Amino acid sequence: MRIDRRAFFARSGVLAGVAGSLESLFAASQKHGAQPRRIIFLVADGMSPSVLPLAEQFSLRVRGKGLLWHALLDRPEAARGWMDMASLDSLVTDSSSASSSWGSGSRIFNGWVNVLPDGTRLTPIMELTRDKGWLNALVTTATVTHATPAGFAASVRRRDDEHLIAEQYLGKVDVILGGGRRFFSAETRKDGKDLIAGFRSAGYAFVESRTQLRQQGAGAKKLLGLFSSSHMPYTVDHRNSESLREQAPTLAEMTEAALALLEKQNRPYLIQIEGARVDHAAHANDAAGLLWDQIAFDEAIETVLRFVEKRPDTLVVITSDHGNSNPGLVGMGIEYRQSNACFERLAGIRASFSTVAPQLAGRAEYSMSTEQPSGVAGGPPPVERMQELARQHFGFAFTPEECEILRRCAAGEKKLCVNRQLDSAVGILGQVVGNHTGIHWTGTTHTSDYTLVTALGPGAERFSGFLRNTEVFGALTQLAGIEHRNPSMDPAEAARYRQVAFTPRERPDWA
Ligand SMILES: [Zn+2]
Repeated sequence: MRIDRRAFFARSGVLAGVAGSLESLFAASQKHGAQPRRIIFLVADGMSPSVLPLAEQFSLRVRGKGLLWHALLDRPEAARGWMDMASLDSLVTDSSSASSSWGSGSRIFNGWVNVLPDGTRLTPIMELTRDKGWLNALVTTATVTHATPAGFAASVRRRDDEHLIAEQYLGKVDVILGGGRRFFSAETRKDGKDLIAGFRSAGYAFVESRTQLRQQGAGAKKLLGLFSSSHMPYTVDHRNSESLREQAPTLAEMTEAALALLEKQNRPYLIQIEGARVDHAAHANDAAGLLWDQIAFDEAIETVLRFVEKRPDTLVVITSDHGNSNPGLVGMGIEYRQSNACFERLAGIRASFSTVAPQLAGRAEYSMSTEQPSGVAGGPPPVERMQELARQHFGFAFTPEECEILRRCAAGEKKLCVNRQLDSAVGILGQVVGNHTGIHWTGTTHTSDYTLVTALGPGAERFSGFLRNTEVFGALTQLAGIEHRNPSMDPAEAARYRQVAFTPRERPDWA
């Protein structure tokens, strides 16, 4: 039987390299009452259910192999489920409410982090694991203080208060890797506090480049790695820029460094690993950006599964926190015969919309460090220049009519399409590119879709079937031997606080 299974895996492409891990995790999951000493929680932020089959097809084309997560959906070793991620007052959650539901076991308002509407502070899971003697780690391609990592380790009323979230990690999270240096550095914090010095004096090594992570990361016991002022680069840009590759490690590389560092301390640990830019690319209606970051997330899954082969007392959970703009490949041409050819064009795209859109709008160069177009607005370039930019970065040309729409959009004109979300710079560019790639979007914000959850190892069965997001906290704490319940509030009571609650200023790119 064992030999047959190995023979099966050897033939099964992407699973071949992790066959031993699947077997050992499965055996561990079958032991009654077994508890993990490692919990590895992976989140593809904003991954609509439609993204996985799209990314599978894209991966087959650009890598010659499919996705590991996709392959796990067909394996009996993995528990598989769907999760209802609603927030306290909306069917559509944001990332801070979503991560807080996992991190505290209570639904809260969107935009808040582990705080109930009446101001009651909820204890985040990483405070509980720390007090239990576990180590904690957060790894992300967003700012490390972004909503999803924060939901496991911080309690603040506004997710945008990332400078406050940064302070709450000190002494609680042992390994912190990602972007967001501006919330730690004395030069860029509003209060001028030098948090990097604070972390250093608390025993953290500090690294800020891929090389430093390789050289110094290995020797440290606690590690703060901040590789960008804001978010980490999109994978599609990272692949095509030598300077970005020198500066920023990939999600898989950060994952590997964090796991190695945690492991050598011989203590149980909880680590959250977030592929954050899947969400950002969906907000931007940027299909190639999204698919390359989904592949980068899958490479992190592979790193994890290879790592746990000889460490079967590990629970691995892989999920997403909500859908986002639900991309789909639509039927193109007569009898949809053009759909495949359109989809193939995605493989020729060599830059994210973040890089190209400001140039199309005539706003000089895009700056990775601030996530903002920099330079003086010069107005949209002429049609010929637009065509040149499209060919250079996307590998195909826009039609003259499409260029005209982009120019009018860049000049601030509205009512260029009926869908109000898509009647924006982001939405119009997404539609223009979609005319050529066949990928279209429902809007530019999160969706209420249930999310996929896949789990392996001791306790995996807790993630099988249909779950409510708040059940994750109970499962993780129980498996870690922690008894703690946070207070919660029912939606009717919460509604009384709605009128007086803080309303964030409108942020169309709210992640
Ligand atoms: Zn988002």
